[in-house]
Amino acid sequence: MSHPHPELGHPPQLPSHGLRVIALGGLGEIGRNMTVFEHRGKLLVVDCGVLFPEEHHPGVDVILPDFTSIRDRWDDVVAIVLTHGHEDHIGGVPYLLRERPNIPVVGSRLTLAFITAKLKEHKIRPRTQQVAEGDEVQLGPFGCEFLAVNHSIPDGLAIAIRTDAGLVLHTGDFKMDQFPLDDRITDLRSFARLGEEGVDLFLVDSTNAEVPGFTTSERDLTPAIETVFRTAPRRIIVSSFASHVHRIQQVLDAAQAHGRKVAFVGRSMVRNMGIARDLGYLNVPKGLVVDLKELEKLPDHKITLVCTGSQGEPMAALSRMANRDHVIRIGEGDTVLLASSLIPGNENAIYRVINGLTRWGANVVHKGNAKVHVSGHASAGELVYCYNIVRPSNVMPVHGEYRHLRANGDLAIRTGVAREHVVIAEDGVVVDLVDGTAKITGKVPAGYVYVDGSSVGGATETILKDRRTLAEEGVITVVAIVDADTGELAEKPDFLTRGLVLNSLKTDDVVPAISDALAQAAKEGVGDGRDVEQLIARTVSHWVQRTYRRQPMVIPVVIDA
Ligand SMILES: [Zn+2]
Repeated sequence: MSHPHPELGHPPQLPSHGLRVIALGGLGEIGRNMTVFEHRGKLLVVDCGVLFPEEHHPGVDVILPDFTSIRDRWDDVVAIVLTHGHEDHIGGVPYLLRERPNIPVVGSRLTLAFITAKLKEHKIRPRTQQVAEGDEVQLGPFGCEFLAVNHSIPDGLAIAIRTDAGLVLHTGDFKMDQFPLDDRITDLRSFARLGEEGVDLFLVDSTNAEVPGFTTSERDLTPAIETVFRTAPRRIIVSSFASHVHRIQQVLDAAQAHGRKVAFVGRSMVRNMGIARDLGYLNVPKGLVVDLKELEKLPDHKITLVCTGSQGEPMAALSRMANRDHVIRIGEGDTVLLASSLIPGNENAIYRVINGLTRWGANVVHKGNAKVHVSGHASAGELVYCYNIVRPSNVMPVHGEYRHLRANGDLAIRTGVAREHVVIAEDGVVVDLVDGTAKITGKVPAGYVYVDGSSVGGATETILKDRRTLAEEGVITVVAIVDADTGELAEKPDFLTRGLVLNSLKTDDVVPAISDALAQAAKEGVGDGRDVEQLIARTVSHWVQRTYRRQPMVIPVVIDA
């Protein structure tokens, strides 16, 4: 198995008949999936998603892939192909099109509907090209064929890419539910046909590679959802991803069967379910869905609310209900159904929401106490089937943290793929397919790009570090009046603090140290205002750290007297 060397440099020139593959996101993390294919001087982008921030990214809205390595090559990009409509595959598209609006966006009907609605909010009208499974489209030097895959959103596609360097198959996100609600199964017959033709490079979803066995069917959730609807004494509040059309279909079916009405709550939920229903992906019996105002007139046992916030996102409807900061007031006897996964990193936020809801008297049904969720990704058993059907020459695991990529690579090797032909890459690592062999040849920038309010890329690691310091340690502002002639303190400095235990701070104790430092500086001829400020900051920092074992941010302000 080849792993990226930590000191990889800029890649060499790509041979003219070679194919270059660079993941700018999605490798080593769950999110911001984006893969760039390069062939004969042209680029094909597959997916452009966002990553959601964690607690150590304070103030960050979303995290984007880094476009640095392709920014001066927008003219060479023949298309952005979207495999499906999840945020971690389409959320970055508005930011890419903001840089070059005329790049065509290619995807299935539902995916294009979701991205077009999102782009409308960004005031961008994209050039789109709709494709469906079975379609073959030539995009520059890339011959693209689309295949149906089953996932936790309808209309997912895998993509086969034919080039002079060979045939690539990219699964996108997929699983192999054999009884999906829309009867649209992953097209293994085409996988086999491509395998016969000879797949030179197979890019495979790794999210569930560590999970043994098979991901069970979406239909297996019916009994648990049924039980909730049969037994809930008062209102039912369901929280799910705003794109999980099939899960919400099951909720609608149960509501209909038990004589309840449904309202969608939250902007993205209302928007996406409207699209899914208009395009026929969501089957809504007449009169079942009403608006919130109408729903509130009904008795509690007739009410179902479907909202977002299943990941504990602080601004989403469910978190606000848990905090009593929403028009819907959770009360005794209400049932909350969290019909969703628990994405790693979100656990604390989700349990906080569950505790909040429970405190108001709700019965919370979730993945931990009922079978109300199945994954959208293929488990190890399914992946092994795929490898045996496709029999690829080279494998590059995608979509997952490092451990998932590694586990997926091990599965490929167990099915007989040569160990040296399994490439474990990370974001920015350059993989070249030349003469039938895929090899790591270099690295390009692929750091985090933070969206922070209206700023894209403005927030840096340094700024985030400052925010964490402010949050955890507080801040001391030192205002010192310094005699411009002597360089000595003209009077005792003022200390202003926030976020520190004030009365324990004996600031008088540090004044002699400041005086000494200033005297030393004057002797050495340090007179520049900025240097004097840094000196005071250092002195105070050392003192606080030594005396109180705290490392607050220290902001020095020097005023010449
Ligand atoms: Zn997905």
